[in-house]
Amino acid sequence: MGKVIGIDLGTTNSVVAYMDRREPRVIINEEGGRVTPSVVGFSKTGERFVGEIAKRQMLINPDATIHSVKRFMGKRYREAARDIPLVNYEVAENRNGDAAVKVSGRLYSPQELSAMILQKLKSSAEDFLGEPVTEAIITVPAHFNDRQRQATKDAGTIAGLNVLRIINEPTAAALAYVHDRRKNATIAVYDFGGGTFDISIVHIDREVGEVRSTRGNNALGGADLDRLLVDWLAEQFKEEHSIDVSADKIVRQRLRDAAERAKIELSTAMETEIHLPFLVADASGPRHLQVRLSRAMFETLAAPLFQQTITECRQVMEESKLSPADIDEVVMVGGSSRIPRVKELVKEFFNRPLNHAFNPDEVVAIGAAIQAGVLEGEVKSVTLLDVTNLSLGIEVEGRRFAKLIPKNTTIPAQKVQLVSTVVDNQRAVKIHVLQGESALATENVSLGEFELVGLDPAARGVPRIEVKFAIDASGIVNVSARDGRGLQNQVTIRAPTGLSKLEIEEARSEAQAHEDRREAAAETKDLRFAVEKQIVALETFLREHKAVLHRQDSSEAEQALKRGRMALAKSTDKTNLEDTSNYLKRFAAHLLDKMGGVQLS
Ligand code: AMP
Repeated sequence: MGKVIGIDLGTTNSVVAYMDRREPRVIINEEGGRVTPSVVGFSKTGERFVGEIAKRQMLINPDATIHSVKRFMGKRYREAARDIPLVNYEVAENRNGDAAVKVSGRLYSPQELSAMILQKLKSSAEDFLGEPVTEAIITVPAHFNDRQRQATKDAGTIAGLNVLRIINEPTAAALAYVHDRRKNATIAVYDFGGGTFDISIVHIDREVGEVRSTRGNNALGGADLDRLLVDWLAEQFKEEHSIDVSADKIVRQRLRDAAERAKIELSTAMETEIHLPFLVADASGPRHLQVRLSRAMFETLAAPLFQQTITECRQVMEESKLSPADIDEVVMVGGSSRIPRVKELVKEFFNRPLNHAFNPDEVVAIGAAIQAGVLEGEVKSVTLLDVTNLSLGIEVEGRRFAKLIPKNTTIPAQKVQLVSTVVDNQRAVKIHVLQGESALATENVSLGEFELVGLDPAARGVPRIEVKFAIDASGIVNVSARDGRGLQNQVTIRAPTGLSKLEIEEARSEAQAHEDRREAAAETKDLRFAVEKQIVALETFLREHKAVLHRQDSSEAEQALKRGRMALAKSTDKTNLEDTSNYLKRFAAHLLDKMGGVQLS
């Protein structure tokens, strides 16, 4: 087995790490960065970029630059209404009712787009480690439901990764803490990232960490703070120029960029100036935006969102039946946890010093790498018991929700439920599986209607079907059933959600084909570069040794140069480039030989 990598697939940025003997290390990507923006960009010619290069085209090509796709992972289109205004690209409904992204008339599922990011991380890891990488641990927000976890796993499969486990981001951070500290403590992991907020309480007894409870909000993160600032900036501009820019995509993207920069600056400065020249132009000429934003103003605007995180903290304490005084340390995770007011509020609430020993951008990937080390057998003494973050249950009469596995149950967990028929000779039974905390089925997240078909005819109430609901260590739900005679295969289950096996397989071959094309293009580029270098070396040589060269040698050299230039002109003919490069190498050796060892450089 090759190296197993740990991936923090973030809303804004992603990080990949691995275990170097016993120590976790972050992998440097091809651009030299420790963090890769979770952005996919398509050029006008259909070329695809991921990471920093894609992020750079966000301003000029917002329709085809996909960021924050994590917000749409495993979501139905109708559930995505709150997220759509946060992005500038088109979000549409896929055939299966899920949210998808439309670029140049083609629909991409969030799984496919996330797979493009994962492919980039995988190839960075392969370059860095110098070996193929096929297995990974991927982290998700603790509050991700089954559909979102399954979608993340499917994204991994599409990217050619065998996802050994999905772990919760705060749990990963706690693992990093356990690995580093190895002391008994009860810690709170406050994770405020780009798109999500999570709070987890973890009890650590030497090398065993046990998550006591976890809460979160999948639609609360740095991007929401940016949006508040974008609205505020648009308002300021309207007041000054009487122009409403809120519907202009490019302007909004520029405002969003400036808002994020200002927000980050305000984590160290007390005031910042936002200057966007030529924001719009009308009959009277160009209009510029120039405003000052103070930290106090930002804190006032963002106060309700900051408070929401504290409310979650209060609730998680209630659920874990602990008080803030029981918490020994608070580990801060995620870029938004750097905001001074956030730090103050968290410190006030827990009345504890905050732990800043870990880099909030990297600690989750580090934890994922440690979990990889545990599964590889490289890290022996760290165990983490996680809990299910949402209650799992089924719909019962009156559209009510019956909990089978309550939230905060240690996973893996399972529950067997007996099900029967309600009419004579009923051949199929439908079970609506949901996740959530509401007593009303309609207010929870539907994981799908599982259909048990192929029942033998019998009077109503006679068939006894045992339905097993299991939540595995990745927090993924599995439902299996067997009838009273103990025949496992007698009952088939259909769960019509997410991507089908076939769709995943198709997306995977497409992703593989893209990877093959990318590799072939990279090889061609390398070959072109080799030929270009050989031509320059030969040209320099001819120039410098003109006086001493035989006429025949000069003319042969000119021929060789001509052949080289022709090969470059047919830019994509790999075989021709390869032959030409070999020929130029032989020719240079032959010429040097004749000249008696003069350097060709
Ligand atoms: P993450 O998902 O953990 O990568 O967090 C990314 C989010 O953190 C983005 O919304 C960033 O704008 C935000 N962020 C990063 N650094 C800072 C900072 N110094 N102050 C405020 N927000 C930050």
